[in-house]
Formats: sequence, C-alpha cells, structure tokens
Amino acid sequence: MSQGLLKDKKVLITAGPTREAIDPVRFISNNSSGKMGYAIAEEFLKLGASVILVSGPVSLTLSHPNLTFLQVESASDMYITCCMHFEKQDIAVFCAAVADYRPRNVVSQKIKKNNNCFSIDLVKNIDIAAELGKYKKREQITVGFALETNDELNNAIDKLHRKNFDMVVLNSMNDAKATFGYDTNKVSIITSDMRQYNYGLKRKKEVATDIIKHISELVLAKQSIEDILKIA
Ligand code: C5P
Repeated sequence: MSQGLLKDKKVLITAGPTREAIDPVRFISNNSSGKMGYAIAEEFLKLGASVILVSGPVSLTLSHPNLTFLQVESASDMYITCCMHFEKQDIAVFCAAVADYRPRNVVSQKIKKNNNCFSIDLVKNIDIAAELGKYKKREQITVGFALETNDELNNAIDKLHRKNFDMVVLNSMNDAKATFGYDTNKVSIITSDMRQYNYGLKRKKEVATDIIKHISELVLAKQSIEDILKIA
C-alpha cells in the first residue's frame, strides 16, 4: 500500500543525538546511534518520497537524489532547521534523541580541572516536536518516539497527547537488544485513536517498514477526510 501513496510526499525526519556545548572541547549529549531515523529515511526514499533528514552527529551516511541532508549539532540548531522546513512537509518523524537541557553559559576557554567538585547550570531546551505540533495543519502527520524505562504505555500516550502526534512509537529500555546502538528494535505503535500494535524484535530496517505501513494508513485516512470536506 505504501508504494503509490508516499510517492512525492514531503517528509521531515530528525535523527541522532544533539550536542550541547559546555566549553570548546566538551559537551553533554544523549546516547543515540541515529540508526532508526536513518532506516526510516531510507525506506521513505525507496517509496518515492522526498526526505529532509535533520541529523545530529552520528557515524552514518545516506545519499539519494531525493534526500536533503542537514547536519546540526545542538537542539537549538535542530529546532531552527526544522522550523525552516516543517510548514511545507506532509509528514514529520521526530526520531532524534534531543538533549533536554543545555548549559546556561558556554565557556569560551577550556575549563581547568582545579576543583574537586564542579557543577554546570542547565536550562531547558525547546521541545521541537511539541512546539511544531502546535502549528500542525489538519492534513499534516507527525510521528514521535518514546523511549521509556518504566510505566511505558502511559508515558507514551502522554507524549502522544502532549506533543499532538498522530502516532507514537514506543520502545522500552527493558527489552534486550532494542533501543540505541543495536541493529534491532522492539516497538509498540500507538495511534491517536488509541489503537495499539505490538511488534517483536526485528532489524531496524524492518521496524522502519512497519512504522511506514502505519504512516501510510494515516495518510490514507487523512486524504479521505480531506476528500469528504471538499465534497461537503
Ligand atoms: O525526550 P522525549 O521522550 O520527550 O521525546 C519524545 C519525542 O519528542 C521524540 O519523538 C523526540 O524526538 C521528540 N523531542 C523533540 N525535542 C525535544 C525532546 C524530544 O523533538 N527537546
């Protein structure tokens, strides 16, 4: 089903971690290989979509005539880059492991280790998905991820509502060989009509195919609504 439906669709994907500078040589970051986001980008490209991949620093590469690759470092870089493109997209998949906080001040010189204790004052980063979710148009589809350690389903549903997602992909830190670094992942997909689909451990490429199958269903459903509204 995905083949014809996604051809020429415009898709924005965030992937990888962000890095929040402490000084010229140090940063705080999240654990993320970027593999899931890159696999999703690859699958969309195979189906004829045009993809903008906004990626934090990872050791992966991807090239394709229909791919616009935009490298970013920090959460605010990622936010500004997404803001420039979001409005024109049909679909946005927020796969990045964005750092929740950044140092209040970035020190211009390398910090010396003179003290036994050291603390950094952190301020909250903008939530890219939640912020763009406020401006989502009726025909746009947004998809988020929830990587959880506890109370997984409730946390995922909370993110679905709070960030105005059409669908959330939940993975748990309690599942072996799932989550960051691995080539495999085990996900549950929850759609905004509260349907839940549980999948077994699969290669991230296959997980990407499952995710895109559900996105195609959402595309079809939204197109039907638009058609009905045109007739009415
Ligand atoms: O970090 P959290 O669990 O809230 O992430 C849930 C979703 O929100 C993910 O899809 C992630 O990419 C997105 N997110 C974001 N900007 C943030 C934090 C999370 O886009 N600052």
